[in-house]
Amino acid sequence: MTGTDYRYITYEALEDGTIARILLNRPKTRNAQNRGLLVELDDAFRQAEADDNVRVVILGGVGPLFSSGHDMGSSESVAERTPGPDQHPSMVINGGTRVGAEKLMLQEWHYFFDNTRRWRNLRKITIAQVQGTVFAAGLMLMWACDLICAADDVMFADVVGTRLGMCGVEYFAHPWEFGPRRAKELLLTGDSLDVEEAYRIGMVSKVFPRESLEDKTLEFAKRIAKTPTMAALLIKESVNQSVDSMGFYNALNACFTIHELNHSHWAQIHESKYPVAEPADGIPDWRTAPPVLPLVKDQPSAAPPNGAAAQTPSAR
Ligand code: ZN
Repeated sequence: MTGTDYRYITYEALEDGTIARILLNRPKTRNAQNRGLLVELDDAFRQAEADDNVRVVILGGVGPLFSSGHDMGSSESVAERTPGPDQHPSMVINGGTRVGAEKLMLQEWHYFFDNTRRWRNLRKITIAQVQGTVFAAGLMLMWACDLICAADDVMFADVVGTRLGMCGVEYFAHPWEFGPRRAKELLLTGDSLDVEEAYRIGMVSKVFPRESLEDKTLEFAKRIAKTPTMAALLIKESVNQSVDSMGFYNALNACFTIHELNHSHWAQIHESKYPVAEPADGIPDWRTAPPVLPLVKDQPSAAPPNGAAAQTPSAR
């Protein structure tokens, strides 16, 4: 598809339009998810959904990493949250003009939760293409996809427990993706999972060398695109309805509510109503927090390997 001007993402039609590739395109912020990006991403998914030629959608990110999570600190993100000429229009609809917990709950439901669930339920097969690090809300985007192709350098972590005093991100798929016990450990420690372990537990579908990730993912997408569309949809739907019957759908709803309780806790404590923990609450400042450590089987905490894990996300 051409003619759609996106500012924060790109949309390409490949293989005679049978494959749509959407890339997060804010490499300077490590593809942190600001509101404008999320609204554009929803538009791009709807565009792929509406186009009957599209069979498979690839979701990736430009630059060294897929997504560092929600954008909490970039000047663009602050401007779009602040009343004025650069405020994003979505800030004054969908609960944005309400007050208290209602405002945050409605805004997060529309822009972090229900949109993610809508992408998960897309009537097309979706493939996440991830590299570098996938932190916090980066996990949500990746998990919403049907299949995940990962570069051999990738690591996964949800750091919101240790850095923001939060019980995980809004789309709480952690126990389903990591397994219940591993989910608790990863959330309680903020440690990262490497790609081999992610593959071993079935969270990622393929592991490709970083330099050939794009080509190999496209090859994989072409193969999936050959499956008759009706069969592909019903395979996806059979698996999704199975996990929904096991409780996935209701658990997501319940955990979103719990997440909002956690925000309300911090908002009640803080004079400023800031809805996540601050350094005074006993966490490191997320801007200067120590590096994410790799999860290691036989050590309570591990030193980061040379350079590899020494990245500090600018966002949750
Ligand atoms: Zn939240």
